[in-house]
Amino acid sequence: MEYDKKVRAPLLKKIQAAMSQRRFEHVLGVEKAALFLAEKYGASQEKASIAALTHDYAKERPDEDFKKIILDYGYDLDLLNWNNAIWHGVIGAKLVEIELGITDESILQAIRLHTTGAAQMTLLDKIIYVADYIEPGRDIPGIEKARAIAKKDLDEAVAYETKHTLAHLIEIHAPVYPKTIETYNRWVAKKR
Ligand code: GDP
Ligand code: FE
Ligand code: FE
Ligand code: FE
Repeated sequence: MEYDKKVRAPLLKKIQAAMSQRRFEHVLGVEKAALFLAEKYGASQEKASIAALTHDYAKERPDEDFKKIILDYGYDLDLLNWNNAIWHGVIGAKLVEIELGITDESILQAIRLHTTGAAQMTLLDKIIYVADYIEPGRDIPGIEKARAIAKKDLDEAVAYETKHTLAHLIEIHAPVYPKTIETYNRWVAKKR
């Protein structure tokens, strides 16, 4: 396929150069899971591939890189109070745009939302959010259940992942990013 030679191969090189071997293998696992979900739920294979390959592009960057982008591009200064866990998606998308030349807004949004989810998510956003969680290399408690749900109902997989991520954050007394709570309220909480 042209995509593989013209787009994917050069992208893969840049991504591999930006991270450890371990993280690179995670990224390849996310691509595999994302392609499976894109096929199953009818999303673009190419967009799923590009978003998966780039979703953690900025994960190993020093904090200073993120702080500089926040200041230079006029992001909400409250972001300075957060850390790599939040920055590598929200601000990482900007680094993907600048450094890898990816301008497709639907891909950039999927990168931006991949850690926290959002109340409003497109099919591609859900695919990357879930693929990141269920990729073959991940070993988290309840992962087999998450994989089984993802094969049946993508929205339910979003809910399962959100509930377990939030429970984990609370367990370890981590600060919860407001968007994570919005995701919980939309996809997990019972309406009343
Ligand atoms: P990874 O980049 O493939 O390791 O996975 P993610 O991007 O999904 O998550 C990165 C880290 O952010 C994980 O340790 C999550 O538990 C954590 N995380 C997710 N949501 C939040 C949040 O609301 N607050 C904080 N502090 N961490 C979060
Ligand atoms: Fe990530
Ligand atoms: Fe995730
Ligand atoms: Fe990831």
